[in-house]
Amino acid sequence: MIALVTDRDVREGYSADASGLVLVPDAVARPGSADEVVDLLRHATGTRTAVTPAGGQTSTTAASIADTGIVLSTRRLDRVLDIDPAARTARVEAGVLIGDLQRQLAPHGLFFAPDPTSDQECTVGGAIACNASGPRTFRYGAARAHIRALTVALANGSVIDLRRPALEKNTVGYPPLQDLVDWFVGSEGTLGVILAAELALLPKPAVELGLAIPFGTESAALDFIVAARESAGVAPRCLEFLDGEAAAIARGDGGDGVWPEGVGAVVYVEEARDDEPPLEAWLELAQAHGADADRVNVFEGDGALAIARRLRHAVPARMHERATPFRAAGGRRISTDWAVPYRALRATIATVRERAAEADLLPPVIFGHAGNGHPHCNYIGRDAAEVRKIEGVVERTLRDVVAGGGTVAAEHGIGKIKSKWLPLQFSPIQQRLLRAAKRELDPLGLLAPGNIIAAG
Ligand SMILES: Cc1cc2nc3c(=O)[nH]c(=O)nc-3n(C[C@H](O)[C@H](O)[C@H](O)COP(=O)(O)OP(=O)(O)OC[C@H]3O[C@@H](n4cnc5c(N)ncnc54)[C@H](O)[C@@H]3O)c2cc1C
Repeated sequence: MIALVTDRDVREGYSADASGLVLVPDAVARPGSADEVVDLLRHATGTRTAVTPAGGQTSTTAASIADTGIVLSTRRLDRVLDIDPAARTARVEAGVLIGDLQRQLAPHGLFFAPDPTSDQECTVGGAIACNASGPRTFRYGAARAHIRALTVALANGSVIDLRRPALEKNTVGYPPLQDLVDWFVGSEGTLGVILAAELALLPKPAVELGLAIPFGTESAALDFIVAARESAGVAPRCLEFLDGEAAAIARGDGGDGVWPEGVGAVVYVEEARDDEPPLEAWLELAQAHGADADRVNVFEGDGALAIARRLRHAVPARMHERATPFRAAGGRRISTDWAVPYRALRATIATVRERAAEADLLPPVIFGHAGNGHPHCNYIGRDAAEVRKIEGVVERTLRDVVAGGGTVAAEHGIGKIKSKWLPLQFSPIQQRLLRAAKRELDPLGLLAPGNIIAAG
């Protein structure tokens, strides 16, 4: 049986993620093989000990931390097992970092489409367990669409191999049961430990173009995003929004000279094609919506696109840091993950701003995947009372979002922090089916307790 580490220092090393919460587990396990994971799960079942899987621990919802039982780190399961350029597939262990995988795929002219901006710190297993997405999900879809097969260890230690059926027609049984891969994508560690995955890969397009387009106001930027989405002249692969403060953070993080300055908002777009992308069409569309077309920054080639990506990633990273000094007083960053039908985004953001002002909160910094109607509103709560106040404001927004056909969580999952909001979206029948599935696969409730289904 693999050693369980109980040293305080080590346990504390696995007690924080990007949620701002700190939960110290009773022990940490760092298995280096599937057999060691299986042994650990058998031991946990025998001793009725909770096990919370953890990858890179970039979760924003406290899904990868626990104050009870064992945190099972997958970081030593870090082998790329096989790359098949002809079939455009890769088989990897769960603890491989997405950034490392992309570097190994690049010489083959291939890439893994899910691109959370945290890709240099997060694992393939964590991305699958959250059904993660990212800026380019606008074109390629979230992680679910790119998983062909999974190897999963269940709570009792049995290992199952799941492969998506190659069927083109199927009427056997209830549709959610026809492909069990889908049960584990987005299951947030609650149904099994993903050991390995077979990933579908895409060929790298010949030309990739990024544009950072400055606008005087955020409403002009948001109108432009709707227009770009509906235009026949351009075909974006990402449509990202940064409000004035988010744009300033990106610029201050090394974007001097390559990122617009002193703007109301920035829209970052990318288009990728095998022929020349329509730069003129983008500039005309931007100008028609009030953009300052003379100050558009153009990113072309892998190096330049990597810079743009780093600047965009700086926004959530710096917002997380801004909240750190308030932790001692119970403060933290509160990051929303709701999404609405994309045409409703401008009005929803206006309501968010009004509510924050009415409640006398620091203005939220808003950025993210606006092409999918999916921004992240980052609030800073300076103490525990302010965190509660912000959560009240967020809950009112979530009620509107769900009433308007949106979701309370589009890519970060529910974890522990947002499980209280699941009933806003799921009917009582859906909640009973969710609990029944959990009981069937994890009858003792040992896997990632508190994730998705609120504890107690
Ligand atoms: C700065 C920043 C930017 C981000 N940007 C994005 C973004 O653009 N798009 C996006 O979707 N997300 C984003 N995220 C959220 C997060 O990075 C992703 O959800 C990521 O995929 C989580 O991977 P991880 O390895 O860090 O998982 P962890 O945080 O370690 O775990 C996340 C969840 O997955 C479970 N889990 C981990 N490994 C396994 C496994 N092998 N088997 C079963 N369950 C497992 C854990 O129990 C937990 O429930 C961002 C986070 C940060 C901090």
